[in-house]
Amino acid sequence: MRRFNGLVLPPSGSFSRFQGPLELGLHQGGRRLTPQRRKVLDLFQRIGSGRHLSAEDVHHQLVEAKTKVSLATIYRTLRLLVQLGFLHELELSEGGHRFELSSDEHPDHHHLVCVRCGRTEEFESEQVLQAGKNAADKIGFQLIESTLNVRAICPNCKTI
Ligand SMILES: [Zn+2]
Ligand SMILES: [Zn+2]
Repeated sequence: MRRFNGLVLPPSGSFSRFQGPLELGLHQGGRRLTPQRRKVLDLFQRIGSGRHLSAEDVHHQLVEAKTKVSLATIYRTLRLLVQLGFLHELELSEGGHRFELSSDEHPDHHHLVCVRCGRTEEFESEQVLQAGKNAADKIGFQLIESTLNVRAICPNCKTI
């Protein structure tokens, strides 16, 4: 059995890569697969993993593609897709949120976030993963993930 963010999946190859987990996840969540939810997830799948979008970005893209949907619906849909494990939510310290596709091929990673424009870059660090694991082990917590968000100012936003 493989696992996809906590969902137990049948062996790979028995369904197309994204359709299976989506159907399974939405079924397990007891929710209907509405065209809007499908469209939001499709958007993330089209841009691929490693891209980080705000709810406003998602809303903008769907409106551009002539999908009538409110920002409030986008927020609800994103939250649901996070709960089901299809998206990963990144909380910025300024109260903003970014969403990205969860995927087996894109393992735990960390983020450098520009506090001025929100530009988000990824990096990998075994040490951070290990530090999180050590800390959890030490006090008997069961580790779910250890990711680091680094607040910074990008070159474009830097004042001279
Ligand atoms: Zn990321
Ligand atoms: Zn910036």
